[in-house]
Amino acid sequence: MRLKVSNFSKFRSTYDGKSLIVKTLLLPIFVYGSRVYDLALQQRRNVRKVVENYVFSTGAKLNMETISKTRENGGYDCIDIPLYLDILKLKVVKKYYNARKQNNSIHLPLYFLEYYIGFTLCKMLAMPVNNSVLHASQPTSYYSNVVDILKRYSITIDEIAEKTTKQIYRRIVNERNAQVLVPMFPINMPNMWTGIHNKVLPNYLKTFGYKMVWNVLPLCINERIARIQKTSRCPLCDLHDEDVYQLFYDCVCIQPIWDYVNVIIFNISGVLMPKVSPQMCIALDLSSLKQLCVCETNLNATILLLSISRYCIWLSRNKVIFEQEPFLYQDVINRIKAMSKARNSAEKSRQTSVYNSVTQILWNSMCSN
Ligand SMILES: [Zn+2]
Repeated sequence: MRLKVSNFSKFRSTYDGKSLIVKTLLLPIFVYGSRVYDLALQQRRNVRKVVENYVFSTGAKLNMETISKTRENGGYDCIDIPLYLDILKLKVVKKYYNARKQNNSIHLPLYFLEYYIGFTLCKMLAMPVNNSVLHASQPTSYYSNVVDILKRYSITIDEIAEKTTKQIYRRIVNERNAQVLVPMFPINMPNMWTGIHNKVLPNYLKTFGYKMVWNVLPLCINERIARIQKTSRCPLCDLHDEDVYQLFYDCVCIQPIWDYVNVIIFNISGVLMPKVSPQMCIALDLSSLKQLCVCETNLNATILLLSISRYCIWLSRNKVIFEQEPFLYQDVINRIKAMSKARNSAEKSRQTSVYNSVTQILWNSMCSN
């Protein structure tokens, strides 16, 4: 597994790509083996570590409990492999439950389940005990683990009867207490996550927005980076400490960029604002943005514009740090224009593009300036 992961790590992927790789390439390795044996405690920890390190190759890390949550709950749908394997075992319990409910005869591998833990399961799932078959006095560790899983995750009879194992898995990941880092905004602000994972955004912009609100971008305020850079000051203005709020919202050097963005938003929506709020430009909060644009297409165009603008600020900021070039706000504006133009032509060239009108509106509203 480590070898596979180190191969994938050579490619720079977005979180979307990474969570897809975990799901489609890493998970199956374990699913196959898990039919026969369980992961030991140390192995479970190692698997989680490898995935965490793969997803967050540099900088601050979110823990598995966070990234395994569904996207609308602040996660990235990244499969928690050991937990997934646990829940996968309930498939056979489900089958057993249904077979007993419908009085069907029991075949392999349900027969083993019946033999080892049938008695215990019947008690747990409120079913009459089947006295006509033999029961083992001691279950093997594989089957005692199944009972343990039912207890550990407080799985109810209703869940076994009605829900798919996928739904049970989702319930558990979303219920787990996860936070080690504190996001910029309350994690249960549901409109924030829908804005960040908005379908109109390409994956790298989604990843970027996600890192921003979780505050895991490698900024100078970060202790480790401050030591390397020998300063925690904002590289643009050198007046305040550099954090997300300073760099992407409050810094004096980027005010002309927000002025420009405001004009474009006015062109799109017809609403003139003195300044976009942090809820709008950092959290991409839909409920704030909907005050500007009622129309879905305009709303998406505004989200795309804000996302592109933040990313361009980040690119120029990195140029200041790594190439010691002076910061010119006009550069950022040019980048924003170029990127919007590129998005538009990319969408145009796609035959089945749904967002052609969105990128077109954005590009048009820039051309009129
Ligand atoms: Zn600054």
